[in-house]
Amino acid sequence: MSELKLVSDKSNSYWAIHARAMMAASNLKRSEIEMLDALIDVESRQVYYQMEIKDLFQYCTEMLGLSRHASYNFITVMNKSKDVPALLEAIRDGSTTVSKARKVCSVITEKNSKEWIGLTRECSSRIVERAVAMANPRAAVHESMEYVSADVLELKFAVSEEWSELLNEVKDLMSQKKQRAVSTEETLFLLMSEFKRKHDPVLKARRVQARNSGRKIETARADTASMDPANEPARDKKHFARDAATAGTAHQAAVQKQSSALNNRYIPAASRHKLALRDLGKCSFVDRHGKRCGSGRWVQKHHVHHFAEGGSHDVENLETLCWPHHVMKHRH
Ligand SMILES: [Zn+2]
Ligand SMILES: [Zn+2]
Repeated sequence: MSELKLVSDKSNSYWAIHARAMMAASNLKRSEIEMLDALIDVESRQVYYQMEIKDLFQYCTEMLGLSRHASYNFITVMNKSKDVPALLEAIRDGSTTVSKARKVCSVITEKNSKEWIGLTRECSSRIVERAVAMANPRAAVHESMEYVSADVLELKFAVSEEWSELLNEVKDLMSQKKQRAVSTEETLFLLMSEFKRKHDPVLKARRVQARNSGRKIETARADTASMDPANEPARDKKHFARDAATAGTAHQAAVQKQSSALNNRYIPAASRHKLALRDLGKCSFVDRHGKRCGSGRWVQKHHVHHFAEGGSHDVENLETLCWPHHVMKHRH
């Protein structure tokens, strides 16, 4: 008798624990949906600008304390739902979860949404992952760069056949030029260095600085470096030549140019170079904790006193800002 009671007690407690777990799982799903809906509102009103936060990702990690992985999942699914509203509906009605929905974001379209959502509902994450890899092999290779020893990293990413052929051709050319076999790493390193040398505004500014000091020109002359046609891009060289022809002398043209600079949206080279040297081509936004953004991606030049309201192109009136911080400055 007492033995039987013990068994039923035990099984009762199993079912009770299971019921609790089921309840927790359904709460988890519900709070996931609430989280997603809240983030949609945050994004549509760009609430984070009020906190001097530049985007939803930073808001999720810093303000909400979500992991980078979870933030990425929510945001990817949210963005995809703009094109495929059925994805959001499937999460809302509980037929799929955010993390599973995220897995199909690289392949789902409005047309095929039924099949992919069906798959996330019926199948395990592993099977969904495998199906996505088959439909889109590139999405299966995540770009990664990982340490394999103290100072060596391994880079992994997917490339096309065309890419690999081009790489081999460039390696041949480079080996020919160097008169020795050049590795993939060295080839890419040389190409990247060459690109940086050509396009990095900070390096450009340093070259101009070195050239000017090499010529031993007085400081006053250096301050008006924008008048030196050698420092201007091709577009302005043409203007300069035309101005010079009509005005007779280069000096007169320079004076004319200076006075018309007030209505010219184009920031003179001298200011651009000074800005590059000061901000090193990185976003200069400083948040409320005193931390500088420092992003070098999609940077733009911002006029502190707006150009449209008569703000000057002087370096004191300029700031380097990444695109999201620039948008924020103008909204705030
Ligand atoms: Zn601006
Ligand atoms: Zn920034």
